[in-house]
Amino acid sequence: MVKKKEFVIFFLLFLLGMFFIYAYNGVTKAKLDIFERIEKHQITQISSVLDNIQKDIFKSYDIKNSQDLKSFFIQEEIREKYEHILSMMLTSDVKYSYVLYRDDNNKFRFLLDASKIDKANFNQKFDVDSYRYNAVYNLKEPQIIKQNNIENLYITYLYPIIKNGEVIGVFNIDFTTNIQSIILNSIKPIETFFTVLAIFVILFMGMTLMQIFHYFMTRKKIFTDPLTKTFNRNYLEEALPLLNLSHYSLAMIDLDKFKIINDTYGHKAGDYVLIQTGKILKNSIRDSDILIRYGGEEFLLLINNRTNAKSNIDICEKIRKAISKEQFFYDGHEIIVTLSIGFHKHPSLEKNLQEAIKIADKMLYVAKKSGRNRVISYDEIGNATDISSSEDISFVKEALDEDRVICFYQPIYDYKNSKIFKYEALVRIVTKDNKIVSPFAFLPHIKETNMHYKLTQRILLIVFERFKNNQKLVSININFSDLMNPDIEETIVKNLKTNPHLASRVTFEILESDEIDDVALFKKKINLLHSLKAKVSIDDFGSGYSNFKTIIDIEANFLKIDGSLIKNIDTSIKDFKVVKSIIHFAQHSNMQTIAEFVHSREVYEKLLMLDVDFMQGYYIAEPKATLVEVDELF
Ligand code: GH3
Ligand code: MG
Ligand code: MG
Repeated sequence: MVKKKEFVIFFLLFLLGMFFIYAYNGVTKAKLDIFERIEKHQITQISSVLDNIQKDIFKSYDIKNSQDLKSFFIQEEIREKYEHILSMMLTSDVKYSYVLYRDDNNKFRFLLDASKIDKANFNQKFDVDSYRYNAVYNLKEPQIIKQNNIENLYITYLYPIIKNGEVIGVFNIDFTTNIQSIILNSIKPIETFFTVLAIFVILFMGMTLMQIFHYFMTRKKIFTDPLTKTFNRNYLEEALPLLNLSHYSLAMIDLDKFKIINDTYGHKAGDYVLIQTGKILKNSIRDSDILIRYGGEEFLLLINNRTNAKSNIDICEKIRKAISKEQFFYDGHEIIVTLSIGFHKHPSLEKNLQEAIKIADKMLYVAKKSGRNRVISYDEIGNATDISSSEDISFVKEALDEDRVICFYQPIYDYKNSKIFKYEALVRIVTKDNKIVSPFAFLPHIKETNMHYKLTQRILLIVFERFKNNQKLVSININFSDLMNPDIEETIVKNLKTNPHLASRVTFEILESDEIDDVALFKKKINLLHSLKAKVSIDDFGSGYSNFKTIIDIEANFLKIDGSLIKNIDTSIKDFKVVKSIIHFAQHSNMQTIAEFVHSREVYEKLLMLDVDFMQGYYIAEPKATLVEVDELF
């Protein structure tokens, strides 16, 4: 765009450069051609003179071989005669002329020399500097030696003296050039002109190239986010006018609870997570997609339409899963990262990109509100759909259909009596390739869907079956909306009414949450559980907005203190105080307490200082498919 000019200049310079090379070549060729013509002309003239001289020699004396020729020229007056003839050939163009022969030892020697100064003696040795001297003898044809020394010696012309088909001597004519050097002198300025111009053209070409290179480097810098190396907002502004929005879907991607990562592990760790996230995003998309770091921990992704109409949104799910599966390690800590995506399939239907971004942002807000780590899509008729839910629903449905839903059991330890008090049943799904998947990967997205009820029902059946004929106690997680479901209620009632021995050993752990809006109804359901002789535990106490009155009203048997309050109890005085008062409250309300997330010896020992009743956590035992015995703990 902006730098088209530079490209045009570069192209013109290139053409000019090519033209100069072409012209320079032409001049050089013409020069050589002229030289050749001159040479030919000179040589033809000389040849006929030499031929006449040769004839004259053979006419006056019977010469059969080189020995005869030598004997002929040994005579001084004959030498003088022929040297005189040869010297008449000497002009400004012909510098030397002499006659040589090759002796028995293959050495060349002088017979005649027409030179006036530094004249060679008869039979004086002549050092040859070219194979062509011998070539005259072998080929029996004239030879030309190009001497490349224009001022003194331009070419040497060797003309054989032939008798009876044998070469018996050689005329040696040395040309200098006058015309050639005149021509050279006259075209030299032209050559110099072209050379200088060529140098200038090359210099300009180099400078233009540098400018273009510099432009692209700056351009890259202006449009690249220095941290994640993705595009930044400047790029969006630059690219927007050229963008045909109907070829794209739009996704707003925002990291979940990113502030907590910064607060917990430091800003550097946050940066690291952003860089890694950027890399994963880039690896999940194609070159035709546009990824922009839109804000701090927010990316805008324009997904170029895939051939398959459905697949634009699949990219979003792919990205969400890739991030949630990725293990981010920083400074020895494993950081769990998830992200939420607001998706607009047809941004071109909006007035402009800004409007489309607003809608995608709204979808992102819905994703955050619905529990994060999900993709919410906006379609042509304005519906928002939780894409991740539908993915997870089919994941759970398949597992149910194919009987791949199982339970793990984690012991809850009665440390006062060194006994396992009971086991908490925890759902797992076994994937087709035999991997165990934890509920946090699929549960949040199926909440309040029919699939959630089906899953809860399956868990109930698995646990009831497992515990109906033993003496052990078990806890089952169940949430408020599960309790409201008639099918679930029926399953509970049917199984526990017929087996009161089992019922007395079952505890329902109910998540303390703000969704318990109809307290009266909730109490009714809890009373039903009590009437079946089952027990009730409040789960994750201390994490939500506890309504102490409701908690007391429902007369729960147990109160499980939230892991977030337990995990740092060895170092946090504040947490210690909160837990202490929760235990105090529970004791006064006739509830036994359970501390979860006991992950270290330090936490365990700190809890011993408080009057908590039971403990549960990785330090004591991890969840397993089997029911572990007390001697397998710690
Ligand atoms: P939510 O799930 O609702 O998106 O919660 P959040 O904490 O991710 O959102 P919020 O907007 O409250 O916080 C974003 C944080 O991202 C705040 C800001 O300090 C941090 N942040 C923004 N840019 C950078 C950055 O370049 N590096 C680091 N380390 N942190 C950044
Ligand atoms: Mg944010
Ligand atoms: Mg965020």
